[in-house]
Amino acid sequence: MQVYMLYGAPTSGKGTICKLFPSNHIVSMGNLLRQQQLVDGANMVSSEVVNKLLLEELKEKQHLPFVILDGYPRTVDQIEFIKNQSNIHLKRFIHLSCNDETVLYRTSLREVCLCGASYMPVLKPSKISGICDLCGQQLFRRNDDDLTQVKKRLEIYHAETPKMISAFKDICLQIDMNENDCFQNACKILASSERHFEFLKDKEIIRT
Ligand SMILES: [Zn+2]
Repeated sequence: MQVYMLYGAPTSGKGTICKLFPSNHIVSMGNLLRQQQLVDGANMVSSEVVNKLLLEELKEKQHLPFVILDGYPRTVDQIEFIKNQSNIHLKRFIHLSCNDETVLYRTSLREVCLCGASYMPVLKPSKISGICDLCGQQLFRRNDDDLTQVKKRLEIYHAETPKMISAFKDICLQIDMNENDCFQNACKILASSERHFEFLKDKEIIRT
């Protein structure tokens, strides 16, 4: 099985990129931890538990040609662990990068819906202001999009990024997600870089 790791700055569009793939190809560590009713946020859960969950999930998906890891690895322990799995081929580390100004701008404007959709002026606006395109509910602001929380998330991101990049520098694919057409651009780059991702070439971005 080939494994792609998806890593990105807050608001770099990781969620939107994940939704371009069939959901069974996505291994989201956040979701796995929530399903297990473990504390939200991998920092609170030991790497041993996280690693075990990961292996169980990959075993269930071993018939698939590839999976995309979202939210794993995050610690040095986890990096070592996955690198040492002889049956896992780490194909690429995909880094969606955004500068801090972009993150601060986007989070200051982002609105979300209870159905999971998320909107931003210019980049991904809703058709009617304040109303979800998908379900018609009222949009609202995420608690962790307030400035203090965003600064904390950025701090974590900047602390993690150098060790992630140095661990996977040989397989790193960095994609700039600062521009307004970043999703179309990311699809083009992914489609031309990986056989498994060729279907993204003409993919329409669904605003969720
Ligand atoms: Zn909605």
